[in-house]
Amino acid sequence: MKILHQKTDMVAVTKAWQGSGETVCLVPTMGNIHRGHLALIERARKTAERVVVSIYVNPTQFGTDEDFDSYPRTIDTDCDVIAAEGGCDVIYAPTGLYDAAHATNIIPSGVALPMEGEARPHFFVGVATVVSKLFNHIPADFAIFGEKDFQQLAVIRQMVRDLDINISILAHPTIREADGLALSSRNQYLTPAQRRLAPKIYAQMQNTCALIKNGTDINTAICLAKDQLQKTGFGRIDYFDLREPDDFQLCDKPTAASRVFVALWLGSTRLIDNCAIG
Ligand code: AMP
Repeated sequence: MKILHQKTDMVAVTKAWQGSGETVCLVPTMGNIHRGHLALIERARKTAERVVVSIYVNPTQFGTDEDFDSYPRTIDTDCDVIAAEGGCDVIYAPTGLYDAAHATNIIPSGVALPMEGEARPHFFVGVATVVSKLFNHIPADFAIFGEKDFQQLAVIRQMVRDLDINISILAHPTIREADGLALSSRNQYLTPAQRRLAPKIYAQMQNTCALIKNGTDINTAICLAKDQLQKTGFGRIDYFDLREPDDFQLCDKPTAASRVFVALWLGSTRLIDNCAIG
């Protein structure tokens, strides 16, 4: 397993593989590798002959009052964990991705506008810009993203389509703890008491889906879920909505594909999750 840091090396390795007829799959991450990331990497190994895992904590997707400084950076352990769990061909940990003169950004509209786009207006600009840069550094055949960040996946798909980027985007379902909490690097910010509360997010999402499937009015089911969450000790709820998965419009008539999307605060930690009504 090679660790590369320079764009020129990464481009050369990717092109050499492709020149000898091998396909390449990229798994972009911010590191602090957990079972969610590992599931994406395993899927990548089944998808292409060569797998690149990028590890980069992207400053431009964090707001000034967000957790960029405290975000867990664990590259040595990450390499060991990836190697122990089946490995990949290259871990790409780019240096100098943005220089002082950087002045061009991708500003996604469309599916980027609601939810995270409202709560964190800088976020998808940072994500789209860094992912497009990574796609230039690793001109892969495939890239895999998690449904845990469902709107991000849609923003990347929209960008790839709109900018004619020649990479197939694949989605992987959310990996959860046994108690339902979606795995996330930010779960480690939770105190033991908050960690015990956190599975209620998924439980409330599931309850909401069940109520709506059984004919309860959408707004009634959602108000009930928000109320219950706030009564049990959650902080601000940025959103708890039922939306269509393709255009993220609010649902008035649910289908099996409609999804509940949640972003809320538990102490100073912001958690997001989503699931389909099914
Ligand atoms: P991150 O390192 O949090 O930026 O995530 C890197 C990639 O892993 C993104 O495509 C995420 O959607 C995906 N991911 C993170 N957590 C999970 C999870 N619990 N299940 C599936 N994919 C995940």
